[in-house]
Amino acid sequence: MERTFVMVKPDGVERRLVGEIIRRFENRGLRLVGLKLLQPGRALAEKHYAVHREKPFFQELVDFITGGPVVAMVWEGNQAILLVRNMMGALKPENAQPGTIRGDYTTDIQTNLVHGSDAPETAQSEIALWFKPEELL
Ligand code: GDP
Repeated sequence: MERTFVMVKPDGVERRLVGEIIRRFENRGLRLVGLKLLQPGRALAEKHYAVHREKPFFQELVDFITGGPVVAMVWEGNQAILLVRNMMGALKPENAQPGTIRGDYTTDIQTNLVHGSDAPETAQSEIALWFKPEELL
């Protein structure tokens, strides 16, 4: 069993896609073990995206992710990290396949609705960053 950190970004909340995104993971057979709605502050956003600190889009990315409420979640299941990544779709809009969340609902590289951890180490650190142990069931 694996756990992964998933976030519906502010554009997904604004566009009323929270239910649609959760439905896809539930239908797949993943188990929801943590969920909360919050508007992240800059410190949390900068830690979450620390790997992108030197990128030209970093400030814009932090502005975007702190710009409205997000839904932070932890999902559990067999190969949950890779399953979620596959269901999210690729970062580049031209590579996001139909049937994926990004491939079905966005054409933009930044406002791409959903985040999912990309490896076991990042899943562990992102879950610890966004959730207290007692918030996970
Ligand atoms: P992900 O794991 O598929 O979300 O991709 P990354 O970890 O590489 O990027 C993190 C987030 O930064 C993406 O989901 C986008 O919201 C944003 N991002 C990545 N690349 C770009 C870019 O070239 N321009 C802009 N504006 N945002 C980007």
